[in-house]
Amino acid sequence: MKVPITRPDVGAAEAEAAARVVHSGWLTQGPEVAAFEQELAAAVGASHAVAVANCTVALELALRCSGVRRGDDVVTVSHSFIATANAVVAAGARPVFCDVEEDTFGMDPRSLERAITPKTRAVLAVHQIGMPCDIEGILEVARRHSLPVIEDAACAIGSEIEVGGRWERIGKPHGVIACFSFHPRKVLTMGDGGMLTMADAATAERLRRLRQHAMSIPDTIRHHSNKVTFEEYVEPAYNFRLTDLQAAVGRPQLRRLASIVAERRRIADRYAAALANNAVFAPPVERRGVRSNWQSYSLRIRPGVKTSQLEILQALVDRGVVAKRGIMNAHQTAAYADDTRFGVVAGGLPRSEKLRDESVVIPLFHGMTAEEEAYVLRALADVAALAEMAH
Ligand SMILES: *Cc1c(COP(=O)(O)O)cnc(C)c1O
Repeated sequence: MKVPITRPDVGAAEAEAAARVVHSGWLTQGPEVAAFEQELAAAVGASHAVAVANCTVALELALRCSGVRRGDDVVTVSHSFIATANAVVAAGARPVFCDVEEDTFGMDPRSLERAITPKTRAVLAVHQIGMPCDIEGILEVARRHSLPVIEDAACAIGSEIEVGGRWERIGKPHGVIACFSFHPRKVLTMGDGGMLTMADAATAERLRRLRQHAMSIPDTIRHHSNKVTFEEYVEPAYNFRLTDLQAAVGRPQLRRLASIVAERRRIADRYAAALANNAVFAPPVERRGVRSNWQSYSLRIRPGVKTSQLEILQALVDRGVVAKRGIMNAHQTAAYADDTRFGVVAGGLPRSEKLRDESVVIPLFHGMTAEEEAYVLRALADVAALAEMAH
């Protein structure tokens, strides 16, 4: 048996949706994208949603629309997929990394405050692997320094936080803009895709222009017009369009979002119960007032375990359970080895480094069979029984 880290949950409804678009004759950004945007905005409680090609370019556009310019600093986390740091560089700015909190995997508001300087122009926080970060703590610090907060919610569709006694989905948004990804490793997928959500209508309008060459009259309008029209191009911009083929594949999954998240949360509950007394692996714990969609399920190797992370991962892979080490850190990659390209908060990033080296990500996905789930738990028990412990 081999249990993958995830498996995209796409079937007949998605195939039918893609076929409908093929037969329609309109393949790129059009009515399916518009419908997907409206449905996603409604699902997360946002006033506006703007679809783009992927989350990396969504983050770049969000930074640009928040006033980030060449030469600015953006405080963010190193402890994230490399796209977070790369988006800051793509926007012409310099990432300044602050440390994370060990239980949320997300930005530590105290470390954020220490990383802010007069050059800081924005804050980019991440809801890492679907676990909401302390967004209220982060917003409080940012407000005092008059800085906009952008949420990298790539993994966090369907995750929730409790605000004033009410549960709200990530993406409402709580900062100025939240950005989602629809890569196959995420909870909803259409191969690739991204979405920005926001409250401000003018920002939504600017984003719609920027993703399509800042064209004054979009092709969808020109196509249906009987009058000859000439479009204008109002600023240098991009082609960051999502296609109607992709949006159509995303819509049936979005309709299933509540049941998808509920299923993932049931698996996480069973994992946590089964691992409570495991000698090697400690399950993740949600804070009060947050609900993860469990995009990834990251275990901590308990203190006192002598077997290395590499040996533990290999033992799981040898048993057919695809496991990965903890979330990466951008500052430990070759791309960011040259420290003229980024800044780091005073005191460094000890918790980020510890998390990468002391965590193991195991398979958890909706559509996982009971046999796969039992197989993963058996492998974790086997590996724990073989591990060497300090006495
Ligand atoms: C996956 C991911 C991204 C990038 O998303 P793409 O849609 O692949 O560009 C950005 N940030 C985080 C935290 C991610 O996990």
